[in-house]
Amino acid sequence: LLVVYSIGYILHQDICIGCTICKKQCKFNAIQGELKQKHIVDESKCVGCHLCMQKCPKKAIKTI
Ligand code: SF4
Ligand code: SF4
Repeated sequence: LLVVYSIGYILHQDICIGCTICKKQCKFNAIQGELKQKHIVDESKCVGCHLCMQKCPKKAIKTI
């Protein structure tokens, strides 16, 4: 039995500069957003791997 539990992620829209780094890191296609626009995390797709958080230059992604 594989249990995947979702951790709530928050992407601080005021801090995000739309660099797209997080979106490129995410293997699960859980981050949406275009270059220079605010990005969002789709929590229904996110598995909580933390890769996006580790790479964000603005530290805009946090767990809640
Ligand atoms: S924690 Fe992992 S799965 Fe979730 S949005 Fe970030 S890179 Fe994608
Ligand atoms: S890596 Fe950080 S600053 Fe860049 S798009 Fe993602 S949340 Fe925004």
